[in-house]
Amino acid sequence: MVGNSGIVVRTASNEAAQKLKAAAPPNLKVAEPKARQPRVALRYLRQNIAEPEILDSLHQANLADDASWSLEKFRASRKEAEKLVALGRVYIGWDELEVSDHIRATCCNKCQQYGHPEKYCRAKETTCGKCEETGHKSPECQSAAQCCATCKRFKRKDAHPTAAASCPARQHAEQQAVSMLQYS
Ligand SMILES: [Zn+2]
Ligand SMILES: [Zn+2]
Ligand SMILES: [Zn+2]
Repeated sequence: MVGNSGIVVRTASNEAAQKLKAAAPPNLKVAEPKARQPRVALRYLRQNIAEPEILDSLHQANLADDASWSLEKFRASRKEAEKLVALGRVYIGWDELEVSDHIRATCCNKCQQYGHPEKYCRAKETTCGKCEETGHKSPECQSAAQCCATCKRFKRKDAHPTAAASCPARQHAEQQAVSMLQYS
């Protein structure tokens, strides 16, 4: 679900999407979801380095020997994110950094499900992100139990906190977000 009254339909092929578009009644507004620009997360940078220098330093330490990646191309290309993620590990000065797609999948504060913010939530009751019971939010939680409220809805019993990196629902939401990235 998106916005106040919209839904996103995922089709197996572009052809199926076009068919569905053509079949939609005229009182429905149909549009294709906006592709997002890729963002890259660099972890474990220990030195203070000014933002304009990061790209240059990244290029110098990791791609200077790669004839297919001139500094000009690296600065201007939209594929630089993809290139960096493919490298996995990069260097800036003496620091070794971990590169990954920077993905944020929206998790609703009220119902603890992915894909919409709280302001568009249609759940009647608040679900606690700590104990997964309804009727209160986690700051007021009195329970000693900790359980993933997102997974509970899918009848999965996994012992991890809501929004943990290991949460399969979160991982699924992030994979969906990656597939929306525009790399070209
Ligand atoms: Zn919600
Ligand atoms: Zn609770
Ligand atoms: Zn979970």
